[in-house]
Amino acid sequence: MPVPTVTVVDHPLIQHKLTLLRRKDTPTAQFRELMREISLLMGYEVTQDLALVTQPTETPLTTFDAPVLEGKKLCLISIMRAGQGILDGMLDLLPSARVGHIGLYRDQATLIPVEYYFKVPEDLEDRLVILVDPMVATGHSAIAAVHRLKEAGAAAIKMVCLVAAPEGLRAFHEAHPDVPVFTASIDERLDEHGYILPGLGDAGDRMFGTR
Ligand code: URA
Repeated sequence: MPVPTVTVVDHPLIQHKLTLLRRKDTPTAQFRELMREISLLMGYEVTQDLALVTQPTETPLTTFDAPVLEGKKLCLISIMRAGQGILDGMLDLLPSARVGHIGLYRDQATLIPVEYYFKVPEDLEDRLVILVDPMVATGHSAIAAVHRLKEAGAAAIKMVCLVAAPEGLRAFHEAHPDVPVFTASIDERLDEHGYILPGLGDAGDRMFGTR
């Protein structure tokens, strides 16, 4: 049985930008920009074990064996709609990655995720799949998304979020102990509506200015 892992990425730049993101007065355009910047930095952490090989490389002065990525194929999967914010930052860092989308919304009465869209590359089994969603609250959406990705063949999955609730992380680890989680923060708890406290509010609404 794999041991579940969670990495809290506590780099000072990420922590500072996350605080700006949390502020209720942060306007939509800045919210989006911060999300993109934090995601790029998170991408740096989540890809730090990508394999390298060496390639003979000519500099203006000499030739030597220089490191390059081995070329493990990547796939970024966004849980819509808030995942789009992370996707943009990750694509800045990994422009050649394939991209998939899973559309899930939370039924407000039951907090159960309802799927309305699923489109992912066909060869998921050959790729490192990086699943992105800024908030792991109850964990229901992330759990459902990973189930669907495994059904579609994904064998190596990492989950990236910005803020996680302890309840959601526990549920996620129970369902998918083989999927490591990377987050910028583990917050205190969920409120009675399934929002993370202190959190940052509804990430999708804040990113798209819909409320
Ligand atoms: N989704 C959000 O966008 N925010 C939360 O606090 C919980 C779920």
